[in-house]
Amino acid sequence: MTASPAIARLLVALRRRAVLKGIGAAAAFGLLPRAARAGGLQLVPLAPNPEGGFSELWAVSGYAPGGGATLGGAAAKRLAALAPPAAAKLRIFHFNDMHNYLVSGRSEAGETHAMSQFVKRVRAARAKAKPGEAVLFLSSGDDRTGTGLDKLLGDVEGRGFVSDPAYVAYSAAGVDAGAIGNHEFDHGARTLKRGIRGHARFPLLAANLHGGAELEPGRDYAPAAIGVAAGVRVALLGLTTPVMKHFRKAADPGLAVASPVAVAKDLLPALAAHADVVLILSHCGFGEDFGPARQSDGWRFFIAEGDISIARAVSGLTDKPVAILGGHTHTVLNAERLDAANLVAGVPVLQAGAHGRYLGEAVLTLAAGRETRLSARLHATRRGDEESPRREREGDYDREFETRVIDPLQARARAL
Ligand SMILES: [Zn+2]
Repeated sequence: MTASPAIARLLVALRRRAVLKGIGAAAAFGLLPRAARAGGLQLVPLAPNPEGGFSELWAVSGYAPGGGATLGGAAAKRLAALAPPAAAKLRIFHFNDMHNYLVSGRSEAGETHAMSQFVKRVRAARAKAKPGEAVLFLSSGDDRTGTGLDKLLGDVEGRGFVSDPAYVAYSAAGVDAGAIGNHEFDHGARTLKRGIRGHARFPLLAANLHGGAELEPGRDYAPAAIGVAAGVRVALLGLTTPVMKHFRKAADPGLAVASPVAVAKDLLPALAAHADVVLILSHCGFGEDFGPARQSDGWRFFIAEGDISIARAVSGLTDKPVAILGGHTHTVLNAERLDAANLVAGVPVLQAGAHGRYLGEAVLTLAAGRETRLSARLHATRRGDEESPRREREGDYDREFETRVIDPLQARARAL
């Protein structure tokens, strides 16, 4: 997202006021509820996406930002008691800020089958995964607002909803979980709820989002989830940016976003105690605190507590591997390999550009529960509009997926 000068001035003023009062940034947002519930988190079983990588999956329930976080119940005990796999490989495909660019390109001839290229690669990896290798497919948010497919979401009052193209496509594509980004609210929280309930066959995660009248925590979204894939226990923690420009406060005035740093510190130890690896799906942006983030694609982004701050905050809270799969700032990170500069206090920070231009792939090797190796890179999507070696060819995308899933969405949007 971009920050207008007015929003930038407002945020600077808010911060100045907070500093004058001697309180931290989180409290400056007015976001931490006064009477947060302490402890007592439970795991609620979820049906994993049948096209995805998890054999078992639970949502964390009962969390309120600012409350304590201990995970109890039979499922948590069973997970905590499981021995870490002697040797395992976790292959993580990740993308962010797709903004409904399921197909991108200006003309029919120039179309790039972005999502179907992702699907081709993920399906191939899943088909050839050896025993002990898990393949996950994850979105770090801002899945809507950008293309003609948005028409299927209807208007911002919740009228004319036809379908949720991103969640329909991701479900069929085998996406295992996604973060809730700020642009998910562009068509109103009611529309988002319809999209999730009707079309998402994977959990949407945002641990610091609370107080809204429409989205029901525990039903429409969860703070975190823990899944088992090829014997590896993977905890997923969702975070969204507290920059409020796109949250349509008038439509849902109670909707609030707590400090991502505070919430991550709160939840991460409890998650790590029940998992072999913790992945933070962060729609908070690549950067530090309260200011414009690094520019990317010629756009300016404004962040509050970015992935660098989150990485520093969670570093050392567990000896299990932790990685941040980021989004929001459309930043191209680790294009060729994991850049040492993106290893922040020992926590790798990943992000895969935007608009379907890149699919991120990280491979984590574990031995007796310990991280032995992490590699990361981006796969650039082949383009439809270039006479170049990067031009898309027939075999670069999954034709069956394009015909069965994407084409009907396009046809319905065009008919509106
Ligand atoms: Zn965003």
